[in-house]
Amino acid sequence: MGFRRDGVGRDPSRRRLTPRLSVHDIAIDLGTANTLVFVGGRGIVVSEPSVVASDSLTGEVHAVGAEAEQMIGRTPATISAVRPLRHGVIADFEVTEEMLRYFIRKVLDRRRGHPRMIVCAPSGVTEVEKRAVEEASLAAGGARRVHLIEEPIAAAIGAGVAIGEPIGRMVVNVGGGTSEVAVISLGGMVLSRSIRVGGYEMDEAITQYLRREYQLAIGSQTAEAIKISIGTARPPESETATPVRGRHLITGLPTQVSLRSEEVREALKPPLDEILRTIRDTLEQTPPELAGDIARDGILLAGGGTLLRGFAELVAAETGMPVFSADSPLRCVAFGSGQALDHFDQLGSTTGMPRTLSTRD
Ligand code: ADP
Ligand code: MG
Repeated sequence: MGFRRDGVGRDPSRRRLTPRLSVHDIAIDLGTANTLVFVGGRGIVVSEPSVVASDSLTGEVHAVGAEAEQMIGRTPATISAVRPLRHGVIADFEVTEEMLRYFIRKVLDRRRGHPRMIVCAPSGVTEVEKRAVEEASLAAGGARRVHLIEEPIAAAIGAGVAIGEPIGRMVVNVGGGTSEVAVISLGGMVLSRSIRVGGYEMDEAITQYLRREYQLAIGSQTAEAIKISIGTARPPESETATPVRGRHLITGLPTQVSLRSEEVREALKPPLDEILRTIRDTLEQTPPELAGDIARDGILLAGGGTLLRGFAELVAAETGMPVFSADSPLRCVAFGSGQALDHFDQLGSTTGMPRTLSTRD
């Protein structure tokens, strides 16, 4: 009423501020480590680990997300807590579908009808898996239309990089189970390489180091905590150490050792070398004009794995390129997918961003 009387409703400048996306459209970053859900008009409303705990006999789901993650390594024999996307591919499709269903239902307001949905699938998934993700989203959320979006493109949008220009941009996205290096120009991927090495392989490298050097067995969450607390990709100004508790492989007893940051760096070297090799290989294959753009504007880092201390400096030193990080490496893909909702109707056409794999209407 008041709007009409004072004419604000017709003010074109005001209209531009009104979000075009409908308030219940949904964008999902389906990651190997974390799943984030962005709801139009609200922003990121779910951010939980991609974990499902279910009964190994009946398949009945006991918990999803953060609650399920706490069960990893602590479940009775009949319950298994799994990461269905662990290696960047959908290891267990039914469990992935259950997980999607859970997250979508958590945010979906059914009274508002059928949402449009953008799903960002992990790099390295096959066409069959992409279709499976799309079908799961349609089934789980009653979505009207689903678009799949490429993760590096979503990361670039989320980091505020103008991707539609004829300028070469390199994105390095290190997730839990995969790392992807991509070159983008004119809103599309010019080339990309994906390897099954990410944050989990860093954790695993730390686990193996402790077994080898200290005969100490630790769980995956302890390994991750070590990486985050004292892990470094390059020598820091001062080295540190942390106490690590685990089970001694020979005595079988709970044991504590002191682990130094130099040792963690040594353990992390092989997975980091693989990521660096992929970045260098991709740079070598980049057409010269685009390589020139990257040398000028720098490499964008996204994904939780790039939060490892010294990672940006390592990439800069090893490639000779400037390097910059997304403001929020763990959230920029979800944020970028959410922003893409705003252009849902153009997707797959002029911007050449995602393709529509199927629609319901
Ligand atoms: P995905 O997209 O595959 O779900 P994410 O981008 O959410 O992956 O990143 C998850 C990975 O980031 C995990 O392996 C986690 O251990 C790692 N990670 C998160 N924070 C840090 C940190 N501060 N230092 C190093 N690694 C981190
Ligand atoms: Mg990711």
